[in-house]
Amino acid sequence: MFTTVTYVLVFIAFALPELLLLRRGLRGVRVHDRPLCRNCLYELSGRGADSTRCSECGADVSSPEAVQIGVFRRRRALIFAGCLFGLIALGVGGRLND
Ligand SMILES: [Zn+2]
Repeated sequence: MFTTVTYVLVFIAFALPELLLLRRGLRGVRVHDRPLCRNCLYELSGRGADSTRCSECGADVSSPEAVQIGVFRRRRALIFAGCLFGLIALGVGGRLND
């Protein structure tokens, strides 16, 4: 009844939002923008200006790579919606072989 082109278009219509929703959901939203130790996630904003060590774990935080700015919280609703779109896309994609 449906042509292969229709299945491909419907597959793309569900697969593309799936990828976008999963990407946004897994990346998350930044909760705050304070500096944190990348090793233990201890907040570094209260330390002295000449301090190069994390006061919690002792890691060297003098390089920018050792400091993480803020925490990202995953967005579960977007991940769930992306999974639903993915399941529909897989169902439509599975019909391409019929
Ligand atoms: Zn630390």
